[in-house]
Amino acid sequence: MAGKIKFQTPRGVKDILPKEQKYWWWLEKNFYNVFEAAGFERIILPTFESTDLFKRSMGEFTDVVSKEMYTFKDKGGNSITLRPEGTAGVARAYIQHGMQVLPKPIKLFYWAPMFRYDRPQAGRFREFWQFGLEVLGDDTPLSDALLIQALCKYYHKIGLQDVVVKINSLGTDKSRSKMVGALTKFLTGRKKDLCADCKIRLKKNPLRVLDCKLNKCQSIIEEASVILIDNLDEASKKRFTKVLEYLDEMQVCYELDPTLVRGLDYYTHTLFEVVIKGKEEMAIGGGGRYDNLVKQLGGADTACIGYAGGVERTIDALKLQQVNIPEDSKADIFVVQLGDKAKQKAIKVIDDLNGLDLRVATAIGKGTIQGQLKEANRLKVPFVLIIGDQEVHDKNVILRDMHDRSQETILDRNIVKMVSKKIEEKNISK
Ligand code: AMP
Repeated sequence: MAGKIKFQTPRGVKDILPKEQKYWWWLEKNFYNVFEAAGFERIILPTFESTDLFKRSMGEFTDVVSKEMYTFKDKGGNSITLRPEGTAGVARAYIQHGMQVLPKPIKLFYWAPMFRYDRPQAGRFREFWQFGLEVLGDDTPLSDALLIQALCKYYHKIGLQDVVVKINSLGTDKSRSKMVGALTKFLTGRKKDLCADCKIRLKKNPLRVLDCKLNKCQSIIEEASVILIDNLDEASKKRFTKVLEYLDEMQVCYELDPTLVRGLDYYTHTLFEVVIKGKEEMAIGGGGRYDNLVKQLGGADTACIGYAGGVERTIDALKLQQVNIPEDSKADIFVVQLGDKAKQKAIKVIDDLNGLDLRVATAIGKGTIQGQLKEANRLKVPFVLIIGDQEVHDKNVILRDMHDRSQETILDRNIVKMVSKKIEEKNISK
């Protein structure tokens, strides 16, 4: 006899079970509502792209590209990578499909799993979901503020509290390289006090040192923040001030953070991270301007700004804050039957109701009324039709309103008309 094999998900990936679905629906449904109203359109990106796309866009020395990508050769010998983020794919699609000729700005969103060979821990997976927003073809400070405002609206809508936007500016390419130069000089002088990882970062990508969370490096990073502000050129400072003025007007809760640089090479000007304040600060998403990326990938000069939010982290925050998630009904009406004749009649009634544009549920295999009503409650249906042998004999059915528990008797010939009327009234009064 073959030994028992216990299969488990690989490290860092997970099943998302039915009991979790209410959170996923809640986030996704509100995401579509808020951002479609804000003029965004959906894009579905491929799960894998050529490895070069990510190397070119995110930067070879970023943590994601150098350590975390799922890269493999396909059978044709091409180097392929499971997407670790969405922005590079959006920029590629924008160029590939000639979107630069469309009226600007182009506003796209996606909702998709990402893959990173990260060290698994709480809130950190190897396959995780992100929702992303990209605004292409608008370089105004107002577009930065509008995106941030829409995000805050979304987080508010799903019920999150203590949401704060941390924000910084890296300025233009020029001011960014000036900044990197000054930072490198400063950090080289303090090299002996940096942690081992930061010594390597200093050599490969000094901005990354600012992401270090170790105490050893924190005081050095604080000192470095002054250098960063000093090296921002006047035009970039002016632009950034404008963004902040808009955010003030919009009453967005933000915090300046001069050490915020974020992990990827393509960012310019505004950078931001959305965090939940609490005992421990939790990052639920991040974004920024990437004015050079489209050009760098071979497209026309196109100023862009984007954001990616972590779905699992947002759900963790909802749970932590014990946000009550309203659950939708999974069907409009549930047909309960008792007895053999009733079962036959129920099948006919269900068939008639299915002719309408209604979601009709039943648990025809369950015998007891309790069992069937339990199922109706689980589905959160607003109405139940009850058919027993008495109702078969009397040529009627009982319609119960599950909300106020009221009941009425409906003649068979009126079932379709009455049920659709009741459901319509209920939907209007919602
Ligand atoms: P990033 O694309 O690295 O800027 O990440 C944006 C957001 O995605 C983060 O703020 C997290 O909420 C989420 N995120 C990033 N990496 C992971 C991961 N490995 N597991 C779960 N969520 C992640």
